[in-house]
Amino acid sequence: MKAVLFDLDRTLIDLQTYTDYGAALEDVESMIGSWDDPPAPATDWDAPTQRCMSILVALSGDPRWTEVSEAIAVHEMAAVTASHAMPRLGEALQLAGDIPRAVVTLVAEAPARAVLARHGVDIPVLVPRRPDLRPKPAADQLLEACRLLEVAPSSAVMVGDSTWDAEAAANAACAFVGVAATRDGTARFGTGVNTAGDLVVALELARRAV
Ligand SMILES: [Mg+2]
Repeated sequence: MKAVLFDLDRTLIDLQTYTDYGAALEDVESMIGSWDDPPAPATDWDAPTQRCMSILVALSGDPRWTEVSEAIAVHEMAAVTASHAMPRLGEALQLAGDIPRAVVTLVAEAPARAVLARHGVDIPVLVPRRPDLRPKPAADQLLEACRLLEVAPSSAVMVGDSTWDAEAAANAACAFVGVAATRDGTARFGTGVNTAGDLVVALELARRAV
């Protein structure tokens, strides 16, 4: 493994539980009305979270994307102080040693940087949702992270908690290790996905993946 790409939310830190995506969805709907959700893998997210993420996929390349992203980011930022680290975060980052790493997230840049700083996660290479990149589950964000880290995607491992992370890794030709999204260590991937109960085990699996 030449690099590890971490999803942020519910992989390193749980921000999602404290983000009022219901309110975010109301704000977005008042701005743009309704839209058709794009095809995307099923997740265990609640309906408003799934809908907010789906609109960011649906509007990829659309001029309204930035204002929609900013409206959602207000609610993500409001959750930063309540967020909590996922189990064994500090140990896992120590275990990662000098392995090049990036955070690849659907969270907007400002709340992503704020929540990483709050939990003392020093990973400068961050690829948040951006108007110029198709969001996960497309490959773009992962390929951008590999470009910034100067590694081939086939030498990198994505560690994430959701089916969207798994599909993005497949689309980018990166290896993937699933990690439990909940503090009780429950993972929700199908068979055939390398899955860990916490971040330390995930890193051990990632080291063996490529
Ligand atoms: Mg996540």
